[in-house]
Amino acid sequence: MIILQDKRAIHENLEKVTHNIDQAARKSGRTLGDINLVVVTKTIDVDKINHVYEKGFHSFGENRVQELNSKYSQFNEEINWHLIGHLQRNKVKDIIDKVQLIHSVDSIRLMKEINKQASKINRKMPILVQTNVAEEESKFGIKIDEIEDFIEKATQYENILVKGLMTIAPYEEDAEKIRPVFTKLKEVYDTIKKKEDANIEMEYLSMGMTNDYVVAIEEGSNMVRIGTGIFGKRDL
Ligand SMILES: *Cc1c(COP(=O)(O)O)cnc(C)c1O
Repeated sequence: MIILQDKRAIHENLEKVTHNIDQAARKSGRTLGDINLVVVTKTIDVDKINHVYEKGFHSFGENRVQELNSKYSQFNEEINWHLIGHLQRNKVKDIIDKVQLIHSVDSIRLMKEINKQASKINRKMPILVQTNVAEEESKFGIKIDEIEDFIEKATQYENILVKGLMTIAPYEEDAEKIRPVFTKLKEVYDTIKKKEDANIEMEYLSMGMTNDYVVAIEEGSNMVRIGTGIFGKRDL
């Protein structure tokens, strides 16, 4: 069940978000169609997710393996599931055949395990390298001056396909303050994009959440992960 009021709110939020994405994309010489919107569905119930699906949005992001699996089994529709949260090695096997993209690869040990599980099902698993641009203690991710080395190492894993970079920027009330974080990561992304390898196919720069997606897109993001901006504040 979803009440009319919730339907209306989601509808209005989607209109607002897509409008903002389009505006920001145009500022950087692109349009709405160039930006991938991953609707972040963590803690959100299936009826609300279904409503978003019916509006034509089919890429959903979850940050927990258990919740992703539970929702995965409740949908028959073709959904592109994204794992966006920290991934423990012992849980890789639970999602390897379910997700389109893992955004949160932050260690060689994790990459090795993904490679192992992907090889078992004959898949070349698309991943993003999570980067901790601001070098915050509290966040996972590879430091910016270690990314190139890290990706170099990825090339030895046959069942890994590096599709790009992801970051969670520090929270700032005023997103303007973190613009340099996005600018910096775009630079690194462009540098790596020039390299060619069978295991590297840079296509996604995943940066931007409810609070900062406009700035992130203006600085070159082509994949944003938005939850609150669509569903409203999450119940904890
Ligand atoms: C929750 C989450 C988001 C979405 O955050 P909002 O502020 O609700 O848009 C994006 N990325 C990751 C990794 C998350 O865990």
